[in-house]
Amino acid sequence: MARIVICEFMDERAVARLEAAHEVLYDPQLVGDATRLRAEAAKADALVVRNLTQVRGELLAALTRCKVVGRLGVGLDNIDVPACEAKGIKVIPATGANALSVAEYVIASTMLLLRGAFASSAAVAAGEWPRAALGNGRETAGQTLGIIGFGSIGQTTARLARGLGMQVIAYDAMLAPDAPLFAQAGVRHAGLDELISNADAVTLHVPLVDTTRGLFNAARIGQMKKGAVLINTSRGHIVDVAAVSAALRSGQLGGAAIDVFDVEPLPASAALQSCPNLLLTPHISGVSMQSNERVSFMIADKVMESLK
Ligand code: NAD
Repeated sequence: MARIVICEFMDERAVARLEAAHEVLYDPQLVGDATRLRAEAAKADALVVRNLTQVRGELLAALTRCKVVGRLGVGLDNIDVPACEAKGIKVIPATGANALSVAEYVIASTMLLLRGAFASSAAVAAGEWPRAALGNGRETAGQTLGIIGFGSIGQTTARLARGLGMQVIAYDAMLAPDAPLFAQAGVRHAGLDELISNADAVTLHVPLVDTTRGLFNAARIGQMKKGAVLINTSRGHIVDVAAVSAALRSGQLGGAAIDVFDVEPLPASAALQSCPNLLLTPHISGVSMQSNERVSFMIADKVMESLK
C-alpha cells in the first residue's frame, strides 16, 4: 500500500477510488501551508496537484520517495518536469480531459463579446433602454476564428466553432502548414501574422514556455483587426493584460475574455474594473462538474497504474 498526498481539490469519488487501494491524505487546503506540505511530501509515494502547487525547489527536494506526480489539468508550467524526471519521478497530466470545458468557454465568450448585448442587465433593470446603442452586435456565423495552438483544446474549439458556421484558421508552431490535421478538422492553416490580422476572434491554446511568454503583447494586439475580440484561457504571461485594457479603451479591441493571469489570484485593479467589454474569470474555463470528474478519475487511474 502506497501513501498518496492530494494537496488541491479533486472529485471525492475519485479520491475514494484511491482510498480503496492506498493510504491517502486528501487536503485541498494543504497547498496553502508550505511547511506542512513539505512534511507530507517527504512521506508521499505519489503527489497529486492542480495548478497552484509549485513542484520545484524545496517541495521537489522534499519528494524523496515519490514515484509519480499526477497533475489535475494539463498545463505543466507549475512543475519542473526535467528536474522531476532527473529524480525518477514520473509527471502525468490529464491530457484532453478538460478540453471540452475550455472550448465551450471560448465559444460562449466569443458569442457574448461579438454580440455585445449581454452587459445591459443593470441598465435595463434601472429603467434605461439602451437598444439603439446595442444594435450593432455581430452574429457568430460567418465570422473568422483564429486559433493559436492546435492541440487538444484548439482542435475541440475548432469543432464547436465549425458547428456554428464560423470560418476557422489555425496556427501551431509544431505543425507544418500542410499537416493533414488542419484539413481533417475543416480548418485552414495560417501563419501567425496572417491569422492575427484576419481573425474576428483570436483564441490562445498554447502552453507557457519560453517561445510563448509575452506572445500577445501590445504590438500583436495592434496587428489585430480593429474591433476583433481576444480570448485567453491558456496561461498568464502569454497575453499582456495591461495592453488588452488599453486596446479595449481605444476601441482597437472589441472585447476580451481573460481567464488566466500573471499572478493568481489577480490583485484588485481599478483599471480592469472600469474596462469596457472585458470578461474576467478566475482560471475556471477548464473546470466544470463534468471535467472535474473526468480529470480526477483519469489521474486517479494513471497514478495507481504507476504505483504498481
Ligand atoms: P496541447 O499540448 O494538446 O496543445 C498545445 C499546442 O500548442 C500543441 O499543439 C503545441 O504544438 C502548440 N504550441 C506549442 N508552442 C507553440 C507556439 N509557440 N505557438 C503556437 N503553438 C504552439 O495542450 P491543450 O490541452 O490544448 O492545452 C493548452 C494549454 O491551455 C495548456 O498548456 C494550459 O496552459 C492551458 N489550459 C488552461 C486551462 C484553464 O482552465 N484555463 C485548462 C486547460 C488547459
